[in-house]
Amino acid sequence: PQQSHENVGYPKLLNKSNDAAATISTPIKPLHGPQTNCTEQMMIWQWDEATGWEAPEIRPYGPLPIMPSASVLQYATECFEGIKIYRGYDDRLRVFRLQLNCERMLKSSLRVGLPSFDTAHLESIIMQYGALQAEKWLPSGQTGQTLYLRPTHIGTTAALGVQKPRQSLIYIIATLLPGFSTKGNGMRLLTSPADAARAWPGGFGNRKLGGNYGPTLPAHDAALQAGFDQVLWLFGPEGFVTEAGASNFFVVWKTKQGDVELVTAGLDNGTILEGVTRYSVLDLVRSNRDQQSMWQHNGKPLPPLTAVERDFSIDEIQDAVEEGRLIEAFAAGTAYFIAPAEIIHHRGKDIRIPLPSAESASYAQLIKRWLSDIVFGVQDSQNWTR
Ligand code: PMP
Repeated sequence: PQQSHENVGYPKLLNKSNDAAATISTPIKPLHGPQTNCTEQMMIWQWDEATGWEAPEIRPYGPLPIMPSASVLQYATECFEGIKIYRGYDDRLRVFRLQLNCERMLKSSLRVGLPSFDTAHLESIIMQYGALQAEKWLPSGQTGQTLYLRPTHIGTTAALGVQKPRQSLIYIIATLLPGFSTKGNGMRLLTSPADAARAWPGGFGNRKLGGNYGPTLPAHDAALQAGFDQVLWLFGPEGFVTEAGASNFFVVWKTKQGDVELVTAGLDNGTILEGVTRYSVLDLVRSNRDQQSMWQHNGKPLPPLTAVERDFSIDEIQDAVEEGRLIEAFAAGTAYFIAPAEIIHHRGKDIRIPLPSAESASYAQLIKRWLSDIVFGVQDSQNWTR
């Protein structure tokens, strides 16, 4: 066998624990700055079935000691959250509806057999860690800027037997996310391949599990290669519109009866992530419905929207465009906030979504302003920030 494998070579036998070469050395570079780099500190919160949750700790950002047989690496016992800290126009730091993220993280954790935790405790840990990172990376004066926090929960039990993890770890890291750029235009979306689904009834698309994202990456990459920004995930033979990449998706149209509706997919069949931004857009549209003074953009009045959560198909969008009833469409999520869509490319054809000019009245821009006024501290009539 030695001869037949000659060109491959045998691995060097390194078995002395004090042999420096026997450990995998992961270079720890000073990590800070935009995009792929994280701040120099991470929060660690460990759990063991026998002893429960330990006291959380802040440690230098760096590799995690984790066994190759760890539950997360073998069985994808992982979930995460995406949260922003906002430096307000009044120079104060805020988080937005953090309780919803912590509750969602608990639901995601339980879905993959990770342990329960006190969501109020997680909230306070995130607040403490976030404040510490934001003091340095979102300094006073940087109004209108954000810092992104990524709480992550993983099963760390080192055992190949398929079972719920007996040990787990919640860690939180922070980064400065780049702004989303569509080169000044609206988002260009490519509908998902006919043979692919992001999520399905009875599955786990409604939970923020890492396992939901990896399998979408080939389609996402193909969309980018073809010059699009995101995949618009359709579901089923009806072509129901579900989500745009890692954002919820909304359309504004006139119904055949002439009502002006804001429509997004409902949460009933468990295929849609319960976006915090999604909830907030729906809540704001509903609570502002009868307040005439709220429905103005660029100095022009807009008819109030009726918010509707239901299945809707790509054909309905196509029909609305052809009949001149489609008003706007946008994606909504923490990372990219409210991002208007301009094109949906579906099975070889462009569906062109109207994109309001800088001067015209736009629902997407109006809703974006309502939200940004809240997160950046202009006014928070809903009491959604801390
Ligand atoms: N859908 C998916 C699949 C997502 O990953 C996200 C980002 N968390 C969203 C929607 C938007 O959720 P949120 O508004 O809470 O960021």
